[in-house]
Amino acid sequence: MGDLVQTLGELFGFAIRMSGQGWSPPPLLYASAAVHLGAAAATLLRPRVWPWALGAVAANHLVLAAAGLWPRSQLLGPNLIRLPLGDGASGRAAITIDDGPDPEVTPRVLMQLAEHGARATFFCVGERVERYPGLAREIVAGGHDIENHSQRHRHNFSLLGPAGMSAEISRAQAGIERVTGIAPRFFRAPAGLRNPFLDPILARLGLRLAAWTRRGFDTVNPDAEAVLRRLTRPLGNGDILLLHDGNAARTRNGKPVILEVLPRLLDALAEKRLRPVTLRSAL
Ligand SMILES: [Zn+2]
Repeated sequence: MGDLVQTLGELFGFAIRMSGQGWSPPPLLYASAAVHLGAAAATLLRPRVWPWALGAVAANHLVLAAAGLWPRSQLLGPNLIRLPLGDGASGRAAITIDDGPDPEVTPRVLMQLAEHGARATFFCVGERVERYPGLAREIVAGGHDIENHSQRHRHNFSLLGPAGMSAEISRAQAGIERVTGIAPRFFRAPAGLRNPFLDPILARLGLRLAAWTRRGFDTVNPDAEAVLRRLTRPLGNGDILLLHDGNAARTRNGKPVILEVLPRLLDALAEKRLRPVTLRSAL
């Protein structure tokens, strides 16, 4: 119970502090505040109802956790899952490439993109940008954008409190800007998982949350055919597609899956007359 009270205090104190900084809580957080206050008031007025009050609070926490575990949800704040449709003349789509830069895979990805005259958005991990600064600058020199995918890509990112989460994001933000000279404008959470603390932190740093329309699961699926099928069925105007140059799964003959998929994906986009653009150029 002590833990719960502390977490709630942190959450509401944080929400109040952040609302002075241009962040407004999404409706789900207002509803959650109402559930907590209602439960507290009911318990004070009629102590016998405490199991029901506790049940309501627990259910509310399940909803909040579920919203954070659903990468494409909008319940915890704005989340880009598709490009706004352009002025109608031609279609476009965004290829986003996560978890790099990687010294083996990224240069070959850049070559494939250049061969197709395509632009992509790289959601890079801050410490990898610091380890491979030359690669990061090569990405930018190729006309692509680097965005923020946290400093260390921690698997427990969605369990961090406001201070830990803020440190993960702002360190990557500073490192990427130091290496490339350009500050990221988008953030994507590791594995897309997050919690209610994230949205106000992004507002303070001037970052927008971006998820995807479809992902190929190419870090776990070695079958390039299946990954391509997931990404392209159906392929539509405004799609944001997710592949990985870091942590890439390998095909049976040892090739990083993205290198098998990307040229065919670019051909499929061309066939559908969808121009590959970066997120920031599309908004
Ligand atoms: Zn990732």
